[in-house]
Amino acid sequence: MTDGRGETPRRTGMTEKCGVVGVSLDGRDAARPLYYALYALQHRGQESAGIVTHDGFQQHSHVDMGLVGDVFGEGDLNPLAGSAGIGHVRYPTAGSVDTSCAQPFSVSFKSGSLGLSHNGNLVNADEIRDELAAVGHAFTSDGDTEVIAHDLARNLLEEDLVRAVKRTMGRVHGSYALTISHDDTVLGVRDPQGNRPLCIGELEDGYILASESAAIDTLDGELVRDVRPGELVVLQEDGDGFDSYQLVEEDNTAHCFFEHVYFARPDSIIDETLVYEARRNLGRKLWEESGVETDVVMPVPDSGRAFASGYADAATETTADGETRDEADDGVEFAEGLMKNRYVGRTFIMPTQDERERAVRLKLNPIKSTIEGRTVTVIDDSIVRGTTSTQLVQLLKDCGATEVHVRIGAPEIVAPCYMGIDMATREELIASGKSIDEIRDAISADSLAYLSTDAVADVLGKERLDLCLGCVTGEYPYDIEGEETDRNVERPQLTSRQLSAND
Ligand code: SF4
Repeated sequence: MTDGRGETPRRTGMTEKCGVVGVSLDGRDAARPLYYALYALQHRGQESAGIVTHDGFQQHSHVDMGLVGDVFGEGDLNPLAGSAGIGHVRYPTAGSVDTSCAQPFSVSFKSGSLGLSHNGNLVNADEIRDELAAVGHAFTSDGDTEVIAHDLARNLLEEDLVRAVKRTMGRVHGSYALTISHDDTVLGVRDPQGNRPLCIGELEDGYILASESAAIDTLDGELVRDVRPGELVVLQEDGDGFDSYQLVEEDNTAHCFFEHVYFARPDSIIDETLVYEARRNLGRKLWEESGVETDVVMPVPDSGRAFASGYADAATETTADGETRDEADDGVEFAEGLMKNRYVGRTFIMPTQDERERAVRLKLNPIKSTIEGRTVTVIDDSIVRGTTSTQLVQLLKDCGATEVHVRIGAPEIVAPCYMGIDMATREELIASGKSIDEIRDAISADSLAYLSTDAVADVLGKERLDLCLGCVTGEYPYDIEGEETDRNVERPQLTSRQLSAND
């Protein structure tokens, strides 16, 4: 995608991937609940939105570019008949940025109609596409979701639904949380390592599958549980319950730790933990690992707020040396020293470095009385290119801060993401190939510290090998060409299935 000057628009940070949802209700149309759920998941994708429903006879679809509120008007929801359906908000991670890749992807084939919403990224999509194209499958997009849809459609010609999904899961390699409609049956699938989140909720008159529990809350539903890695969940057509099939089991999971740190809504519950609490606990750990005594601690709004609150809380209990604070010691003051201008849009159309730097100044304004003449710790969840951090440190110093210390609630990002996050290339990442001291110098901070990977695993209550830490270690949980892996994992051998034009 290029802007009017032919330059590729750039993002200043990481960009959320996609949000998926599926519902099956008892008699009531699914379109409106899907629409509200997509609103709740809007933070996961702002490029396109769509809903596919099925009324027992035929499939209905409305998919377009834009935010949920722009894509759906009253006149667009009414024709989406049927009590079963799926929805999607998309940020493009694979495939081009146009309607051909907007989702849900829908297709009709010999044994029925299929709709597919995908969050994640396959690393062997090209191999499967080439194989299917060679036996006559015609693709309308270059996205990996269509590859899954075609593979599944093909398998459904030969197998029942559960076996067909299992066969496709044996062929695709990468991250996926899927909601699928096969006629008026809605199902959810999570990849065998559970890289992307997906949960099940109970509604008054049916069940819902959604990327995040915040979507279930929006519909006054109850979170039932996460879909397990490698599990297929089939919602019953009368909205009465769901069936579970554990189709694949692996020794280790590979949950994206950045869901907890950055992507998910703080009010969502992932792996039985409220994201807001996880962020606060990461902040507490940050104080334990690298606390520095300053006059004031402040978050970068809004991303650093939960981390800073946990950090400041821990700082009231112990000193930076780990000693219990005595009662006369007020500890570190927690304050909002940076105000966010909420009416500045995303820094998406900011093609040049100069414009990206200006965007920081437009977005954040310091409160001088909190900062002037004081030592300051500023807390954020991550540093990607370093543009924002550099500008922030300068901003605080210009405002009279005598020292600026930067603390980050995650490890340094040193490598790109292949699992569906638009992050940056290695060359663009400020931490790639640099020591912490070099990064500190680059952003002109008085000190800089990140949280360790062990601390992240500890706070999330996981073994390191049950998390994806690819972007902070350079070792991935999938077999990615040219990259290291941290486990024993291989791509499926596609040639093991003999495809011919007639099968
Ligand atoms: S590489 Fe990083 S952002 Fe991508 S899935 Fe793994 S942890 Fe998440």
